[in-house]
Amino acid sequence: MNSSACHPLMIRSSKGGKLAYAPFCRLLAQPERIATIRHDRNEKKKMAKIGFIGLGIMGKHMLRNLRKAGHELVAYDIVAASVDTVVGDGVERGASCKDVAARTDVVITMLPDGPEVEHAVLGASGVLEGAHTGSTLVDMSSISPIVSQQIAAACTKKGVAFLDAPVSGGEPKAIDGTLAIMVGGDEATFDKVAPLLMLMGSSVVLAGAVGAGNVTKLANQIIVACNIAAMSEALVLADRCGVDAEVVFNAIKGGLAGSTVLNAKAPMVIARNFKPGFRIRLHQKDLRNALLTAESKKVALPLTSLVQQMLMALMNQGSGDLDHSALYTFIEEMAPKSPGKRGQK
Ligand code: NAD
Repeated sequence: MNSSACHPLMIRSSKGGKLAYAPFCRLLAQPERIATIRHDRNEKKKMAKIGFIGLGIMGKHMLRNLRKAGHELVAYDIVAASVDTVVGDGVERGASCKDVAARTDVVITMLPDGPEVEHAVLGASGVLEGAHTGSTLVDMSSISPIVSQQIAAACTKKGVAFLDAPVSGGEPKAIDGTLAIMVGGDEATFDKVAPLLMLMGSSVVLAGAVGAGNVTKLANQIIVACNIAAMSEALVLADRCGVDAEVVFNAIKGGLAGSTVLNAKAPMVIARNFKPGFRIRLHQKDLRNALLTAESKKVALPLTSLVQQMLMALMNQGSGDLDHSALYTFIEEMAPKSPGKRGQK
């Protein structure tokens, strides 16, 4: 194998507050090997001051995990009340994205989608107005990889390093600091930032150049969405055949159809609990980004397209803020009314 080719490597935390991470692209002869460079979460030396922009469902917990490790932070969100909830005890208030960047060496953004990241980074009083040469921007939002590349190009002109580093795992894993983080960017920047990412995640993988993190995230979102859609069809069919959906779930979860998605989402469907979780409107946004990216490469994604349309219809019906497991209700609406106990209410 070519030693200059980049291979994604797992970077994992071990138990007991110790972290282990792989400096990637270096174990190509044995890609399955996991390098273990030890880094103590409680280590006091050279704690970088970090800027954090976007303090929503995910960002506020990710910021807290950086703070718990001893980093000082400057926080900003367009909603001032969200900043109020995190300031104090080593977390300062930023006046704007520009101000955050001017006061820190590493800025992390955790925003809804590409337009918000463009506004926060490239817009008036944005990150690039305040950032100094040699600083680093890590965008952890789930956005189009094409937009990541455009933002990276603007950063390069200002001498600012850029990584796209979207996450998977949702709020519980943001709280626990066990997110899966998929990164795009150059090796040197990744090496520098990986210890920070390890404070928020249990798996950090360099997938390739800028944009590769979001390509990986889109792959994740396609698989999850299609899984939920398939599960929904299966459980509606079972119900309309008079077979209890819970019995079906318990019978198949240990077989080939079993999956993390099935284990997480079937119980929600069975309980008709569609409290998010991961909102339909965010998943629709991810599939839209997948389709736009696919179109730019002339790739057909028929299943993704279909599920994206279902999610858009659910948004139009007022279900955009329900958990994505509410895809079940879309399939259910197309079935005859059921006399069964899980039939349409
Ligand atoms: P959220 O909507 O809860 O939070 C986004 C925050 O960004 C809000 O507080 C908003 O006020 C702020 N914001 C928007 N525009 C801004 C701007 N220009 N400047 C400063 N702040 C601005 O979203 P979230 O659930 O925390 O998700 C963030 C990202 O992570 C999204 O891309 C999402 O797809 C992704 N993600 C979410 C989950 C999840 O379970 N919620 C899981 C994995 C990935």
